[in-house]
Amino acid sequence: MSEAEPKVCPVCGVKIVAMIGGDRVLFAVGAPGTRDTLWTKVCQYTQKPGCINQPKDRNLPK
Ligand SMILES: [Zn+2]
Repeated sequence: MSEAEPKVCPVCGVKIVAMIGGDRVLFAVGAPGTRDTLWTKVCQYTQKPGCINQPKDRNLPK
């Protein structure tokens, strides 16, 4: 049994925990969400290199 280390987006400052059935995103404030939530709330506004939750990684329309 191995627990994955959460990945931290250095740009957005959120933690992404790999989980079966979809990654869980832990925000600094509020309830946990998905990568979609993260994208909608945070990453689409930052658009900086180094963000680990990019549409090209996720196959989302821009
Ligand atoms: Zn990000």
